[in-house]
Amino acid sequence: EQAPVITVDGPGGAGKGTLCQLLAEKLEWHLLDSGAIYRVLALAARHHNVALDDEAGLMPLAAHLDVQFPVEDGHIKTILEGEDVSRAIRTEQMGDAASKVAAFPRVREALLRRQRAFRASPGLIADGRDMGTVVFPDAPVKIFLDASAEERAQRRLIQLQDKGFDVSFDRLLSEIQTRDERDRNRAVAPLKAAADALVIDSTDLSITQVLDKVLGHTRVKL
Ligand code: C5P
Repeated sequence: EQAPVITVDGPGGAGKGTLCQLLAEKLEWHLLDSGAIYRVLALAARHHNVALDDEAGLMPLAAHLDVQFPVEDGHIKTILEGEDVSRAIRTEQMGDAASKVAAFPRVREALLRRQRAFRASPGLIADGRDMGTVVFPDAPVKIFLDASAEERAQRRLIQLQDKGFDVSFDRLLSEIQTRDERDRNRAVAPLKAAADALVIDSTDLSITQVLDKVLGHTRVKL
């Protein structure tokens, strides 16, 4: 019997990260931030001078990605080749770069096993774009979290400003829309709700309201 998984998919800025962190704390389950893996791969490409459109060059990086996610006083850090890149991967430029490398089917394939390895007892919260459709299709609980583009840009703005990044709303909005468009329209593992996912539009909901909905749904399903 495999450990249970709650998949949380959706576009950038919909609140998946915060929701997944709260779920993981509440249930005391493991957490997979799959977007961080694609962001780290994009950063590794930069370090190794591999162009973002060079699929053949990206393949060995994806296959041997030296990334770790240690937890330090309740916070998950991202370590690439021994270097703390937790902050460096959070810029919208790295999000955009991640979505470029993530469009290659073979790159995605190379990262599948690494993501599935996060599934462990007592359970896993999996945050991404294709968690419910491709990586954990048998997950007993699937959530698709959406919000309007304006609301998502606003949330990203606050999040990035909190981290000390200098960003503008208009620029974020257009960047988020470009990235979503690419994620929704790619040939493999496009951003979409699994047929059996509970779709939540969080535009007018607080994080507590979203969390309550997900916990209620989880109780029914598990
Ligand atoms: O969620 P986050 O903004 O960190 O994701 C960065 C990019 O990584 C996304 O825009 C998407 O292109 C890619 N990604 C993906 N599949 C996932 C998670 C992220 O393709 N499961």
